[in-house]
Amino acid sequence: MISPQTIAAVRERTDIVALIQESVPSLKRRGRSFSGLCPFHKEKSPSFFVNPERGFFHCFGCQEAGSAVDFLMKLEGLTFPEAVRSLAERAGIEIEEERRGDRTEVDRQKRLKDELYAANNLAAVYFEKMLREHPDRGYAIDELARRGLVPSWARSEDAPAPAEPMGPIDDAVQAFRLGYAPSGWDGLANFLKAQGISPVAAEQVGVLVPRANGTHYDRFRHRLMFAVIDVQGRVIAFSGRALEGTPAMLAEPKYEKPAKYINSKESPIYSKGHALFGLFQARHAIRAEQIAVVVEGNFDVVSLHARGVANVVAPLGTAFTVDQAKLLRRFADSCVMLFDGDAAGRKAVRLSRTPLKEAGLGAKVATLPDGTDPDELVRTRGADAVTDLIHRANGLLEFLIDDALDAGFAEADARERVARVQAVTKLLSEENDPLLRMMAKERADMIAGRIDLKTNDWRARRMSEDTLRVLENAVKSALADEERKAVAMKPGETRESPKNARIAARPPGSAQRAQIVGALLEYPELLREREVEACLDMLEGASARTVASLAALTLGAEDQNFDVSAFLAQLPEAVRSFAAKRMAAPEFETIDQARADIERNASKLRGMMVESDARELSHETARAAGDWDAEIRLALEAQSRVRSVKGGSSARAAAPISAATTTIKESAPHPEQIPSDEGTSHAEGDAWEEDS
Ligand code: ZN
Repeated sequence: MISPQTIAAVRERTDIVALIQESVPSLKRRGRSFSGLCPFHKEKSPSFFVNPERGFFHCFGCQEAGSAVDFLMKLEGLTFPEAVRSLAERAGIEIEEERRGDRTEVDRQKRLKDELYAANNLAAVYFEKMLREHPDRGYAIDELARRGLVPSWARSEDAPAPAEPMGPIDDAVQAFRLGYAPSGWDGLANFLKAQGISPVAAEQVGVLVPRANGTHYDRFRHRLMFAVIDVQGRVIAFSGRALEGTPAMLAEPKYEKPAKYINSKESPIYSKGHALFGLFQARHAIRAEQIAVVVEGNFDVVSLHARGVANVVAPLGTAFTVDQAKLLRRFADSCVMLFDGDAAGRKAVRLSRTPLKEAGLGAKVATLPDGTDPDELVRTRGADAVTDLIHRANGLLEFLIDDALDAGFAEADARERVARVQAVTKLLSEENDPLLRMMAKERADMIAGRIDLKTNDWRARRMSEDTLRVLENAVKSALADEERKAVAMKPGETRESPKNARIAARPPGSAQRAQIVGALLEYPELLREREVEACLDMLEGASARTVASLAALTLGAEDQNFDVSAFLAQLPEAVRSFAAKRMAAPEFETIDQARADIERNASKLRGMMVESDARELSHETARAAGDWDAEIRLALEAQSRVRSVKGGSSARAAAPISAATTTIKESAPHPEQIPSDEGTSHAEGDAWEEDS
């Protein structure tokens, strides 16, 4: 647990513009804020804003927003503590930990982990060195050659290795920290010993194995080594591929063909199914492309990466897990599974459905031409052939329907057909994304249309008819669900269709109220001024709640720096996006402009209240207006408050600040004012966005 003091210090001392500029070189000053091309979605003109005063960013295009910590979490896929630590390190802040348990125990755990990372890192250094120097390195280079991945420094036996990596293949070999584990028993053991790494740590991460006599030997022998690197760039495990045996090995009477791949065992820093091979190297490309490509093998990842398809990862020999899907979800909303079209590949896709759904990661499936793997495809037909395949990928659900209904369906007996159709019915009923379901349903219909009903066996015919009926019912119930959902969604509809929002009741004056709130968000210090305070009585519902939150946070505070993300989280939903925009890209250059604008809008609102007074006299009109009823009541209430404020101004002058806060809080919870977040306040929120 990092202490709140440290988190506050990190927020204060982080230069958010400098931080973001590192990954958004286009960031330029524009008024009080900076704008540039958003790193979270593809765009050609800048809609990404950073406000250095607030330490806050917001993208008008994709709605990403938050603090420096949020930025780092999103960009690098870090957790909150990881991002805070990273920023603390940049700013030279020592991290204060709030310790739940025994302090020495926490320290011990951290030291232990650090030692494990060090053991793995040095093992990677050793394997890399051996790929360049060991007399048997040719076996590993041969394996690389089979994938067209020979680095330039290994091309000629006599040529010296250049100091700097050259070309994309050299880059890939270096980025993935490829290496060679030699066939001796103690090469790594001796190297680690010389580097001061305890054999116990090396044993824990699984690179050394203990003997009965207490000494240790190398676990990975005569293998091509792939380092498994976490999102923070630390080596957490290895994956070693078997190589052609040396003559000496083959001459051994006990020689056995080794397992093709062996991976590190679980350790305190590595758990199987929690890491993805290549994610560290792919993370920026995944973010930029907004899609991750999942392949089966490590070599596929390296090979595609070396040829410019960089957004690729592999699940490290396990079936795709929920944790892996969640890890990807930090960087993109969806993935494409680029798997072999064979039975094993299809099965892997089938098994990945549940974890993908659980993690909320969208998925498509691109099937490779028979018998090829991604590595082969990219080498023979180039990166374009691969990206083409990725772009033409089908939805996962469609793939599964095809898989159930198409492949071998015609040859299947009636019983199996029914089973398969029932499987499809189940797929459809479990799918909760309406759009996906519609698409899938069409797919199923189309295939069902092709199912041959002409058969002489009456039982088979009967079953085929049954299967169609089952399918039809499934589709019908899916559609019925659709309608139910559509009806249920009505109140929220305004969010997606602003035109409807305009038709819906929109309280008069909401644009002016929004403007007042906007100015206050930009200069909360205005809340301390008596003239401004008097204007606050014009606020209602969501706008009043927003200012109340702002006042609670900034009045009496030493400075006007506060945690913008936390503030936004407590606002009514209708206001959140508006507030984020105003905080990221302020409209007013000076506090004087903001003050003048508040007063102008307040006086407009006062005028409206007089008008509504007049409306109140004509009861008929008020009734006919229906929707306006509430607004008129509000206006009257507000007016009576204005009167009371005018009457009691001397009392408030004594304690202007707390009184302002109280007034807002008292006025906020009237049921007519805030019927619900989906009702009036939504309409108001939409009105804000049009007018601001
Ligand atoms: Zn964006």
